Amino acid sequence: MIPYGRQDISQDDIDAVVEVLQSDWLTQGPNIPAFEQALCDYSGAKFAVAVNSATSALHIACLALGVAPGDRVWTSPITFVASANCALYCGATVDFVDVDPSTGNMSSEALRIKLIQAKSQGALPKVVIPVHLCGHSCDMAAIFELGKEYGFKIIEDASHGIGGSYQGHKLGSCGYSDITVFSFHPVKIITSAEGGMALTRSRLLADKLALFRSHGIRRDPDTMLRPNEGDWYYEQHELGFNYRMTDLHAALGLSQLNRLDHFVAERNRLAAIYDSYCSDLPVTPVDPLTGSQSARHLYMIRLHQSERRREIFDILRAKGIQVHVHYFPVHLQPYYLGRGFKEGDFVSAEAFYQQILTLPLYPTLASSDQQRVINELAACLA
Ligand SMILES: *Cc1c(COP(=O)(O)O)cnc(C)c1O
Repeated sequence: MIPYGRQDISQDDIDAVVEVLQSDWLTQGPNIPAFEQALCDYSGAKFAVAVNSATSALHIACLALGVAPGDRVWTSPITFVASANCALYCGATVDFVDVDPSTGNMSSEALRIKLIQAKSQGALPKVVIPVHLCGHSCDMAAIFELGKEYGFKIIEDASHGIGGSYQGHKLGSCGYSDITVFSFHPVKIITSAEGGMALTRSRLLADKLALFRSHGIRRDPDTMLRPNEGDWYYEQHELGFNYRMTDLHAALGLSQLNRLDHFVAERNRLAAIYDSYCSDLPVTPVDPLTGSQSARHLYMIRLHQSERRREIFDILRAKGIQVHVHYFPVHLQPYYLGRGFKEGDFVSAEAFYQQILTLPLYPTLASSDQQRVINELAACLA
């Protein structure tokens, strides 16, 4: 079986985790701030808050930006459900912005049109969550300009994107957003087993993110609202959660970070090989935006014979090639249909979904295995 993605764990990674197990700190030890600082240094953000998943990071990012009942949050329909669910956790309503038909990323033009309409109805969003599908950056400068014009905040869901860049700046630098979220699930670019991170340039937002991560509790005596009762005393100021990352997970993530650039380079090398073979096949690769460097979480193609997608998928799976489809549009999930969405709401996303196929891509994908994927795909399409 050739999987569509897989983690790469080195002896250094194992040693880093074992070292924590033998230390005094299993959770919230020294590896948490070290991992956070390393990601700030890497990406160019000022602050980073490590949590137990990207889903948690998206939730507290919405809370830190003040998302509450009565607010609207917009995201892409071509994403993992977590990008939309985070708004519902806050009691807000979710809507979607249709995608660019060739990239599957949120279309800044569709966003502009939807904003004009929303403004006339007094129904503008509080937060927009663009998702960097495959690790390919969205057109962030355009989305940022619209944010200034229409007054919404921006959370980048860069769960696929760590290690990539846009206009020469690493994703996570937050040059065009308030908060950027990374995922360290094992299928993603680097892993901490489960884990996520929220990055920002704002000290105020970082403080709120940290507060929501751990029960809304403050321990710093300078921040107390009541007289200090003694050294045991702490105060709860918000309704927060236990979204803390453990030191074991942080040690793994920090160790993996050492090989991030290598992973991204290998993913891009393999993607270029796919690109060269795909040019002879009736498929169109989903390409990164020009001027951006993709982390290449997924290698996705659009089939010209989209009516045969199911058949081609089944044939390749039967041959032990774990192709995949990312993603079934979120608004068509039964849960979201139950909230009033319906087929035809986002036509570009629905058309994109019908055409796409994700091919196996991970840093240790052997040349012979990649060649087999290409040969079997070509045979299907012949
Ligand atoms: C994986 C993923 C998430 C959720 O990440 P977890 O760390 O598993 O919570 C959110 N958004 C997107 C686009 C993802 O791919």
